[in-house]
Amino acid sequence: MKIVLITGSSRGIGAATARCLAAQGYVVAINYKSNHQAAEEIHNEILAAGGKAALFQADISDEQQVVAMFKTIETRLGRITHLVNNAGVLQTQMRVEEMSAERVNWMLTQNVTPYFICAREAIKHMRDASLPVASCAIVNVSSAASYLGGANEYVDYAAAKGAIDSFTKGLSLELAPEGIRVNCVRPGCIYTDIHADGGEPNRVDRVAELLPLKRGGTAQEVANAIKWLLSDDASYATGTFIDLAGGK
Ligand code: NAP
Repeated sequence: MKIVLITGSSRGIGAATARCLAAQGYVVAINYKSNHQAAEEIHNEILAAGGKAALFQADISDEQQVVAMFKTIETRLGRITHLVNNAGVLQTQMRVEEMSAERVNWMLTQNVTPYFICAREAIKHMRDASLPVASCAIVNVSSAASYLGGANEYVDYAAAKGAIDSFTKGLSLELAPEGIRVNCVRPGCIYTDIHADGGEPNRVDRVAELLPLKRGGTAQEVANAIKWLLSDDASYATGTFIDLAGGK
């Protein structure tokens, strides 16, 4: 049985991935921080479509809550076999010269450390899961900002995602001898609510014309790539990156 934890799956890319993987037969652990109603909607949608899922509230920037969440998942669903490190946050657009240490540190503790801690706990589960360890896989959700830089908007976020790229490469090499694959998707401008948190709800429409494909992307388009990377169809891919940025 494939059991996947998707961090931050109450909305946006995480929610689309939850729907997509449930339709593939995964049992989905839906994690969220505070928006219980949105998480419950996704949960109900999956159940109504005949899928299997359960809700797990936890703030993944809190190590204790992550450890407790994994214990609860094991009790309720079993040991996870797949992980999508997805939850991420933006802050209001700002140039580097205005950024405080507090803001930069917050960005890193929200977007980088939780990926390490969730992966750490997931690896322990995978080594003793119901599937052979070599069938287990991790996908990290980074961002095209990691190579574009996020200038004048959020260089702190871009740098945090750059750390996720390095994390993907390093972890993939550590786990390759066991056959656990670790890959990464780097979305560009995707229609989700994250842009409102960055201070510009219509950001995707503003930049769409500047993109080679002349449009923003959908959460489903990112979910499709995550689905492939987790699947056995990607069995020889590890430490790789799929850029979903409309040609940027
Ligand atoms: P979103 O719509 O803002 O959704 C974020 C999700 O993360 C929500 O489910 C939220 O839960 C959860 N979350 C945030 N902090 C959390 C925490 N500390 N603990 C647990 N859950 C937490 O974001 P999105 O646009 O789908 O982005 C998903 C990922 O894609 C992020 O890593 C983001 O950086 C990346 N990305 C997005 C874009 C884009 O254009 N949308 C582009 C590149 C990369 P609650 O609702 O309960 O708070």
